[in-house]
Amino acid sequence: MSDIEYRLSEIRKRVRLNNIVIFICIFFSVVCWFAVQLTGILAVSDPVQIGPVFLPLSSVRGLLTAIINLLCFIIVCCSYKVGLWFGTIIMGVSTGSMVMSIVRTHDATPLPGLITNISTIIILYIIAFEIRRVYKDSITDILTGLYNRRGFAIRVDKYILKKKNKKFHILYIRLKDIRAIIDEHGHEYVDDIICQIGTRLKNLVGLNGQVAKLDGREFAVAINDTMDPIDTAEKIIDTIYKKITVTIDDADMDFNLSSYVGIASYPDTAKDSAGLIRFSGIAAFNAINSPDKSYCMYEDEMVEDLHHCAEMEKTIKHALENKLFYLMYQPQFTSAEKKLRGFESLIRLKDEEGNFIPPSEFIPIAENTDLILRIDDYVLNMAMEQFAMQFRASEDKLILSVNVSAKNMASSDFVDRVLDIINKTSFPPENLEIEITEYSFAMSMDQTVENVMRLKENGIQVALDDFGTGYTSLSQLLKLPISVLKIDKSLIDDIVTNQTNCDFVDAIIYMGHLMDCEVISEGVEYLDQLNILKEHECDFIQGFIWSKPIEYNDALALTKE
Ligand code: C2E
Ligand code: MG
Ligand code: MG
Repeated sequence: MSDIEYRLSEIRKRVRLNNIVIFICIFFSVVCWFAVQLTGILAVSDPVQIGPVFLPLSSVRGLLTAIINLLCFIIVCCSYKVGLWFGTIIMGVSTGSMVMSIVRTHDATPLPGLITNISTIIILYIIAFEIRRVYKDSITDILTGLYNRRGFAIRVDKYILKKKNKKFHILYIRLKDIRAIIDEHGHEYVDDIICQIGTRLKNLVGLNGQVAKLDGREFAVAINDTMDPIDTAEKIIDTIYKKITVTIDDADMDFNLSSYVGIASYPDTAKDSAGLIRFSGIAAFNAINSPDKSYCMYEDEMVEDLHHCAEMEKTIKHALENKLFYLMYQPQFTSAEKKLRGFESLIRLKDEEGNFIPPSEFIPIAENTDLILRIDDYVLNMAMEQFAMQFRASEDKLILSVNVSAKNMASSDFVDRVLDIINKTSFPPENLEIEITEYSFAMSMDQTVENVMRLKENGIQVALDDFGTGYTSLSQLLKLPISVLKIDKSLIDDIVTNQTNCDFVDAIIYMGHLMDCEVISEGVEYLDQLNILKEHECDFIQGFIWSKPIEYNDALALTKE
């Protein structure tokens, strides 16, 4: 039996057991109730013998009533709804008959029983409502009033049990920028944002689905098959992205939040709530890495990817702790005279078995976590430490260019950390260049611009790496406060054969110079490429044509030449 089948059969067993207990309790309560009525009809005055004990009839009646009360409490504990209905009926009928008897006979003997009955009904209601409250709290998110993860899982499992094989979809929603908002504005804003998103999602799915708020910044939506999951995912992303206004202390603040949606379908992806929630979560995680769209249908390979990411994260942590990362340096030269401009530091990693892991494999995974911040710090420290003495002593102004992730550029303390490392290593700041990509501006325009300005104020220059691959237009480029433009290898590759690319590279060099930027072409491998770039007055060349990345000692020797 598979895990899922086992879980479902456990749930079914529990439900069946519950129903059996309720049935037995109801049965015996009814029997006891009839027995009580019988004692009333018999009106025997002699004590009744129960085993060796003789009990007066009133005591037998009291005993039976106590048993009925106890059984009602048990039923309430099994199902407060059934318990409440049954308890109200059985107690109500007894109470009614006692009142009638008192009115009819003017005899107050049943009065204590009557009071006991009424007290029992009240206690039954108190217990039932308390159980209901505790249960509701345990399945609801306090902030939004929506189902929480547990409640959502229970709902989904119940739906599966009830509507066997009826297709439905789970959409797992991850909010992207919440962490940054918490860091910048605190939790009050975020609570309000989360509530507004919850309401929007509820309005969006209406009666065709169920919305839940899972953990910190995640929601889940279950929709029936009348709604198209892809279409719904797109609508969810749109509805979340619409302006959210939060008012605190009479001040309005507007937010636009991006989100990622992962989709899992019943019964194709998984056959129980745990699987559906888990796999849709994995798909949402994959959507984060998807370059073209913000939603993803779950596919089996994603689990392998996730496993690979987890393994890689372990490898990165291990490498950081044991200082296994090392740096290679790729020289950059002036295009006209092949004079050394400086080096770009490029990180390298070998695993335990000595296999080389390329940065293109571990950098994107590190970028999904905060590990990239540690990697950047590690590289800045190591590169500056290695070249500080030589660069200070050199008469030429050589440049050390270091790649920095968008996440770092979007953090408010990045420049302070760079200045600390400069102080610590005594590296001359005017010899340092920070390479960022267009993605930094897309991720956080204001903070990135502020950081670039502060770096410049401190004499550090900033290069825009991989230019031509992203979405910055030439006109937007004019507004960015950068000093160096690096044209991406993909544009240089077919510069010889593709006239459009050649013209585009020419335009970039022209614009770069208009902006007072120096222009570097990356990935230059052939003489024809070099000649065209020289013709278009590209300032610097970085590529295998003149040098591959080299080891530190070779780089040091090159500076002394
Ligand atoms: P990038 O910053 O654009 O680095 C240039 C990449 O192009 C390097 O690859 C370099 O070896 C390669 N390259 C340069 N000239 C040629 C050429 O003529 N032909 C070919 N085929 N390749 C050439 P690498 O070292 O594999 O780095 C890949 C990317 O990984 C880098 O692209 C950068 O985005 C990232 N990276 C590398 N080191 C670091 C680091 O220390 N920190 C961060 N955050 N990212 C890094
Ligand atoms: Mg670079
Ligand atoms: Mg590059």
